[in-house]
Amino acid sequence: MLKYQIIPVTPYQQNCTLIWCDETRRAAVVDPGGDLHLIDQAVQNQGVTLEKILLTHGHLDHVGGTAELAQTAGLPIEGPQIEDKFWIDMLPQQAQMMGFPAPAPFCPQRWLNQGDTVALGNLTLEVRHCPGHTPGHIIFFHPESRLALVGDVLFQGSIGRTDFPRGDHTTLVNAIRQQLWPLGDDVAFIPGHGPMSTFGRERQSNPFVADKHYG
Ligand SMILES: [Zn+2]
Repeated sequence: MLKYQIIPVTPYQQNCTLIWCDETRRAAVVDPGGDLHLIDQAVQNQGVTLEKILLTHGHLDHVGGTAELAQTAGLPIEGPQIEDKFWIDMLPQQAQMMGFPAPAPFCPQRWLNQGDTVALGNLTLEVRHCPGHTPGHIIFFHPESRLALVGDVLFQGSIGRTDFPRGDHTTLVNAIRQQLWPLGDDVAFIPGHGPMSTFGRERQSNPFVADKHYG
C-alpha cells in the first residue's frame, strides 16, 4: 500500500510529498522545493528510509532542495521529462527572480517519459507526460491507491499557469483531458499547491477544464 504525507515547503507553500511503501518502508520525496528540515522531520516521524527523489517539473519551488537532499542523503533523482532541462539549467535565474538563494545545480539520473514506471519498494508508479505548464511536466499515478501526484498541472478549482516560457494553455488543457481524466473520476490527486481534490470533482466544477465547457 502507498502511504503519503504532504509537507508544504517554501514561501509558495508547495506540496512536497513524502510517499512510501508500507510493506518495505522505502520512501521517495516528490518535489523537494526547500525547507529540508521539514522533510527530514517527516522521514524520521514516519520511520521510513529514503530511496529516491522524484520531480514533476523544473520550477524552483518544486526542485530547489533537490541537489542538497540528493547529496546529503545519497539519493538518485528521477524525472521530470527532458524538455524541462532548460528550467533546471536556469535555476540560478529562477532564484534571482523569486528572491531565493541560488541552489546547487543537479542533473537527474533518469529522465522520465510517457508510459515509464517508477519502482518504490513493492509499489509501481505510472508516469504520464502532461506538458503545458512546462514542456517536460510529468505526473505520477498509483493505480491501486487511486492516487495521482500532479504538480502544477491541475489544482482544486484551477489549472497551472501558462504564461512562462514554453507554456501553452491549449496544450495544458489537452493534457488534463487526455492524460488525467481517463485515469478515473475516483482518482484523488495531490496538486503542487493547495488542497487535494478528485478528477471527478474537477470535471464537474473546475472553471477551466470542466466537461460542460467541452460538450
Ligand atoms: Zn510550476
